[in-house]
Amino acid sequence: MIGLAHRRTRARTWHSEHVEDLLSNWSGTVTYTPAAVARPSSVPELQELVAGSRRLRARGSGHSFNLLTGTTGTLVSLAGLAGAPELDAAGVRVRVPAGTAYGALARYLEEHGRALPAMASLPHVDVVGACATGTHGSGDGVGTLSGEVTGVELVTGTGELLSLTEEDPELAGAAVHLGALGVVTAVTLRVGPTYRVRQLVYEGLALEDLAGDLDGVLGAAYSVSVFTTWASGQGQVWIKARDGQWVGEPPGRWRGAVLADGPRHPVPGQPAEACTVQGGLAGAWHERLPHFRLEHTPSSGHEIQSEVFVPRDRAAEAIGLLQGVGPRIAPALQVSEVRTVAADSPWLSPAAGQDVVAFHFTWHPDAPAVERALAVLELALQPLGARPHWGKVTTMAPELVRSRWPRAGDFAALAERLDPQGRLRNDLLEAWFPRG
Ligand SMILES: Cc1cc2nc3c(=O)[nH]c(=O)nc-3n(C[C@H](O)[C@H](O)[C@H](O)COP(=O)(O)OP(=O)(O)OC[C@H]3O[C@@H](n4cnc5c(N)ncnc54)[C@H](O)[C@@H]3O)c2cc1C
Repeated sequence: MIGLAHRRTRARTWHSEHVEDLLSNWSGTVTYTPAAVARPSSVPELQELVAGSRRLRARGSGHSFNLLTGTTGTLVSLAGLAGAPELDAAGVRVRVPAGTAYGALARYLEEHGRALPAMASLPHVDVVGACATGTHGSGDGVGTLSGEVTGVELVTGTGELLSLTEEDPELAGAAVHLGALGVVTAVTLRVGPTYRVRQLVYEGLALEDLAGDLDGVLGAAYSVSVFTTWASGQGQVWIKARDGQWVGEPPGRWRGAVLADGPRHPVPGQPAEACTVQGGLAGAWHERLPHFRLEHTPSSGHEIQSEVFVPRDRAAEAIGLLQGVGPRIAPALQVSEVRTVAADSPWLSPAAGQDVVAFHFTWHPDAPAVERALAVLELALQPLGARPHWGKVTTMAPELVRSRWPRAGDFAALAERLDPQGRLRNDLLEAWFPRG
């Protein structure tokens, strides 16, 4: 399996700047072993660091689950460059320095009456790091977070400053960058007016009904997630409805599922206080779209994650296949989540050029068991054109991964142009995008 080292520690609730904490990912399941750690305090210092390094990689908030962040050289924290987000005069674009969490950005935008169209399941994640791996939320009409990128500022592999705007055809190549093009110091995102969202949870939806009417279930509101363990044959539906949707008293039963009688956590057995407000109470977009609250540990904390994206028109087949392998993957699985992502344009987006359904898996932190289960399910889903998440674990062969993105060759060429000496290369990038 790609990039999985065995380690068990308690997950952190926030991006810590203790050097020791920079050397593993958030759940402690991946360990980085750089020769050095650096924390430049200005962009010129960062440029000097890059130009003088043989190998280096930047680190975000450490919420990825593979060795994409790994380097034998210097691991770079951008915390010393952190600044405040800046909205433009028209209020339609926001510049976000590296080291800014989505939660902090969202609060800033809300104070200015602005909003993002999507949030991931957690607000703790770094904006630049999330864009780097094609992080997404859910919604039939909503693309990945990187789909809103209108500018990328970076120190390239040669140590030069580069600013890509919407005028540059390479912007779509740099929106999901895997840290392969340089060290990104800021991104600019498109924003719109603020909006309110109500969240409702229904339990006991039959998976046959999900497969039989995918559009009816996943398109029931602005953002919908279905949580399941597959083997149970049932799912818990999280409906996030925007202004004008699901108005009035919610029905006690919906498609055979029952309205939850209190707040729920998606991972069985976890306390619901970590989750955003449910029960249909309207709130600001950033306090309902993520499943987890900023002040709490998201998800279970003791976990490994993987995710597979299937073209939307093959998703019903995928649900049938996952129900079939459900009993075999059950011992390793904590919970699985089904979401939708609308087609967008970043070259390496999981939804590049096609609407997809995302099948996410939160596993117990038992690497050998995860590897066995993942091999079973990814083998089942491969014939459907499945793409893996760039920031999570996968057993898919690197050449198969590469073949899933029509612009992979263009991305490899861009990486070679911006990092001719291969300073940002690591084993995972070598496997996915080998140099000629
Ligand atoms: C509890 C939990 C829930 C999650 N929910 C979702 C979800 O809802 N949807 C989803 O799609 N994903 C989800 N993820 C995955 C997560 O969003 C991605 O793995 C994302 O990359 C994490 O961002 P980060 O800053 O923590 O990345 P890191 O792990 O720190 O870095 C990821 C990659 O980005 C590079 N990078 C980071 N910053 C820079 C920079 N400034 N310049 C250059 N390269 C950089 C790193 O080198 C590395 O290659 C979840 C993860 C967790 C732990």
